[in-house]
Amino acid sequence: MGDKYIEEIKAVDGYVWNMVMSNGYDCVFGADVSDDSIWFYHAYRRKGAGTVYNKIPPEKLPPKTFTKFKELLYDFVVSEEQESYDEQLRLDAISAEVKERGSFVRTVHMTFDGERKSKCFKLYEHPDKENVLLGFVYDISFAIDHDWMTDEYARLGFIENAEKILTELPIDKERYSLVYTNIKGFKAINDLFGEQSGDMVIFQTRDMLRTLLKPVIMGRLENDHFVLITRDEFLSEQVLLSLTNQTYNEGFKQYDFTIRCGIYRITGRDVSVSKMVDRAKLAEKSGLDNEGHSHVVYNDDVRVKYVKQRVLISDMNKAMELGEFKAYYQGIVDAKTGQIASAEALVRWQHGKLGMISPGEFIPAFESGGQISALDRFMIEQILKFNMDRAKQCRLIVPCAVNLSRIDFYNTSLMDYLVDIYSNNAFATDYVRIEVTESAYADLEKNASDYLNRFKALGVKILLDDYGSGMSSLSTLENFSFDIVKLDMGFIRKIGIQNNAEIIIRSTIELSHALGATVTAEGVETKEQLDFLRNCGCDYIQGYYFYKPLPEEEFAQLMG
Ligand code: C2E
Ligand code: CA
Ligand code: CA
Repeated sequence: MGDKYIEEIKAVDGYVWNMVMSNGYDCVFGADVSDDSIWFYHAYRRKGAGTVYNKIPPEKLPPKTFTKFKELLYDFVVSEEQESYDEQLRLDAISAEVKERGSFVRTVHMTFDGERKSKCFKLYEHPDKENVLLGFVYDISFAIDHDWMTDEYARLGFIENAEKILTELPIDKERYSLVYTNIKGFKAINDLFGEQSGDMVIFQTRDMLRTLLKPVIMGRLENDHFVLITRDEFLSEQVLLSLTNQTYNEGFKQYDFTIRCGIYRITGRDVSVSKMVDRAKLAEKSGLDNEGHSHVVYNDDVRVKYVKQRVLISDMNKAMELGEFKAYYQGIVDAKTGQIASAEALVRWQHGKLGMISPGEFIPAFESGGQISALDRFMIEQILKFNMDRAKQCRLIVPCAVNLSRIDFYNTSLMDYLVDIYSNNAFATDYVRIEVTESAYADLEKNASDYLNRFKALGVKILLDDYGSGMSSLSTLENFSFDIVKLDMGFIRKIGIQNNAEIIIRSTIELSHALGATVTAEGVETKEQLDFLRNCGCDYIQGYYFYKPLPEEEFAQLMG
C-alpha cells in the first residue's frame, strides 16, 4: 500500500484504518453524493479460490463515479437480485437512508467464477467531509455459510453447497441419503449441566456423525440439529442403532442421550436440497411418539400423516366452535378402598367428517401447529365448570387432572390464566391438578419450569406423568417435588412377565414415598396387576380394570 493512501486513510480516522487492515474487506471507498464521484482508499481482489488477497492500485480501477462502479459489479449480481440491486444501490436513495437511520446496509449475492458470494455493502456519513458517504464492501460468505461453533456449514452454506455436490455425485450408480439428526434429551443436558456441557454434546455428536456416517457434506442447521449427505452403505441398522446409545462424560458428570435420524433417500435430482431437508426433518418428527426408535425413513406414509396433521390443524378452530371437542373423565381409585379418589381429564374429538379421532393423532399436530394451548385451556375450563356445577348441586366432587404439553409452559396467556385462577379461586387450586410428562419436564427451560414452582407454591398438586418412559427419570425426581408420580403403563404391562420390571415398580413406589410423593399406577387392566400393585403399597390405580375414560354425563352418573 503506497504512502499516499496510508496518509489518506489515516487522515479519515483510525477507525477506517482498522477496517482496512482487517482482511474481510474487499474495499473501502468514499462517494460524493453531490457529483457522483468515487475514490478508493483501498481495494482488494481475490486471487483464485483461496483466501489470498491482491491489492489493486486505485488508479487501475476504471470507474471513477459511483454509478460506474455499481454498473461494473452488476453483471456479477445473481439474476434474482439484479433488479433490487439496481434500485436500492442508488446514491440518492442510500444517502436518504443514511440520514434517516445513520447507516445503509445491504447484502448482495454475487457469483465470481461460479462461486456464490455474499457481499455486504455498508455506508455511513463521512466523519469530516460533507455530502460524502464512507462505504465498505466486505465478504460475509464465510460467516453466512459456516457455523462458527462446529465449523460445519450453516443452513445456507449447506443447502447451496449440497446442491452443487449433488450435481457431481454418481447418484444414479450409488445410493445416497440425506440425514437430519436430533439429539433427544439435549435441553435436559443444557439445564442440568449448563450450556457449556450442551456445547460439548454438540461437538461429540458432530464427531460421531463424522466418524460413523462419513458424510460427503455436513452442516448444522440450528441448536442440536445436524444435516448431512452420505452413502447408504454407512447407514446400516447397526450404525444407526449405535447412535441411540450415546453417553456424555465430563468428570463426574454423566448423561445418556440419543441421536435420532430422519432419512431422505435421494432418488434423483428433481427434489431440491431444502425440500430434502424438510422431508428428512418430517420423518424424524413423525417418529416422536415412537420413543425407542433410532431412525425413520421418509416415505409416502410420513407425508400422508403430515397432510392429515395439516388437515386436523386447519379444522381445529371450526371444531372448537362446533363443540366437537369433549372432555372425558377417567376415574382413579384408591388402591385400598377401590373408591374413586380423583380423575384425569382426557380430550376426545368427535370430528364432523372423520369420526372419533384419538388424542394420540391430533395432540402432536396441535403441538406443532400451535393450537394445543387453546385446547388445554378449554379442558381446564371444562373441568372447572363440571366440578363447580356439581358443587352447587351438593354432589360428590373429586380433584381432576389436566394434561399440559411442554408447549403450554411457553404460552404466556395460558400461564397467566392459570396463575390467575390459582391465585384467586381456591376451588381451582383444590380441584384442577396439573399433569406433566416426564419427557416434557426434562425439556423445559428454567423459566418455563418455574411456573410449576409457582403453581405448587399456590397449593396446586403437580403430577409426573408417564414416569419411567423417558431417559431422565431420576434427575426429574431430584429436580422437582412432584406430589404424585404416575408409573408408566409400560411397566404395569410387565407385571407377572418380567421380574426386573416388578423390582423397578416396587422400588419406584418406595423411592417416591421416601421423597414424599404418592404413586398412581396407569393402565391397570388385570386382577393380577392390581394385586401386585396393592402388595407393593401403590396408592392409586388408574386403568380399564376399574374405569375407562367416560363422557362427562356418564362419569357424573357414576359418581352419583
Ligand atoms: P396419558 O396422559 O398417558 O393418558 C393415559 C392414556 O391411557 C389415555 O389415552 C387413556 O385413555 C389410556 N388408558 C387409561 N387406562 C388404560 C388401560 O387400562 N389400558 C390402556 N391400554 N389404556 C389406558 P388417550 O385418552 O388416548 O390419551 C393419549 C394421550 O394424549 C394422553 O396420554 C395424553 O398424553 C394426551 N392427552 C389426552 N388428553 C389431553 C389433553 O387434554 N391435553 C393434552 N395436552 N394432552 C392430552
Ligand atoms: Ca396423563
Ligand atoms: Ca400417562
